[in-house]
Amino acid sequence: MKTLEAYIVLAAQSHGHMCPGQVLGIRMAMAGLRAIGIEEPEKARKRLLTVVEIDRCATDAVSLVTGCRLGKRSLKFLDYGKVAATFVDLDTGRAMRVAARDDARAKAKSMFPAIADAARAQLEAYKVMESDDLFDLQSVRVNLKPEDLPGGPHTRVACAQCGEGVNDGRELHVGDRVLCRSCAGERYYEVAADN
Ligand SMILES: [Zn+2]
Ligand SMILES: [Zn+2]
Repeated sequence: MKTLEAYIVLAAQSHGHMCPGQVLGIRMAMAGLRAIGIEEPEKARKRLLTVVEIDRCATDAVSLVTGCRLGKRSLKFLDYGKVAATFVDLDTGRAMRVAARDDARAKAKSMFPAIADAARAQLEAYKVMESDDLFDLQSVRVNLKPEDLPGGPHTRVACAQCGEGVNDGRELHVGDRVLCRSCAGERYYEVAADN
């Protein structure tokens, strides 16, 4: 594992700025990986899977440190709105959920009163605070199905309504029809009139 300072430099480059959320994300990933016994994430790419519970600054940092990515299926995003992530060793099944403590923000604010810029003060505090003050860790089990794991698609079917292909069992059975989630009623968009 690289040092916190080294990750901060890399995270600022890839995320576009440095911010308290990224320091939190870096430290969250470092704490989670250590807790499941992975000291060298760059050598554990194939066995590491991370579930993130928020799509904010911390998430980019978690991805950077772990090397887990959405496009490799090793990063799962569950939109729970919580600054938390679970780090899974697919070889051993060991998994640790790391959640940012709500009182960490208040504690951080009180640590560097001489720094006028609040975000800067928070960032500096997140660098040096004890891990126990920043996070709660829970040892967990994550139920991952084969079709959720990295690797080639397990299945692919065509939606009976729109004809688009659906990978890995994400189709729904409605009556006697096999439909994609959009056609089954979960569509997140409306088709515009100008098609
Ligand atoms: Zn940010
Ligand atoms: Zn469809």
